[in-house]
Amino acid sequence: MPLEEYRKKRNLKKTGEPVGYKNKKDENIFVIQEHHATHLHYDFRLKISDVLKSWAIPKGIPLKEKQKRLAIETEDHPLEYANFEGFIPQGNYGAGEVIIWDKGSYENLSEDKIGDAYKKGNIKIHLIGKKIKGEYALIKTKLGEKSWLIIKK
Ligand code: MN
Repeated sequence: MPLEEYRKKRNLKKTGEPVGYKNKKDENIFVIQEHHATHLHYDFRLKISDVLKSWAIPKGIPLKEKQKRLAIETEDHPLEYANFEGFIPQGNYGAGEVIIWDKGSYENLSEDKIGDAYKKGNIKIHLIGKKIKGEYALIKTKLGEKSWLIIKK
């Protein structure tokens, strides 16, 4: 059950976030959500097979060349989450406002298929959004299982 952790953390009736039953075979999408939780952060999500692989970026996606930012991997989210905006009520997981900061498609530039690149912890992509356009790498660090770096080429 790929979305088990996602559903376990949330009371989806109360929060209005998607349950995640649709398996749209869409193009390669990405979304960046500005999330005003306890600490403001940006959630970066990438469609890999039928879920959104997700990372929380405390300082936001790098905008300058060669800039690196810490990206902490979080649980898989359903594809419909790419359209989610709203206010997660107090007392619920991730309480606070969620705003779509940017959204678009990506091209895989990794040597491997995107799913394999993810497993190897070495993803290279070209993002085509409204605000973000350009090449990025997501590299898993050796320090922790959930810590990655997102680097603007
Ligand atoms: Mn978040």
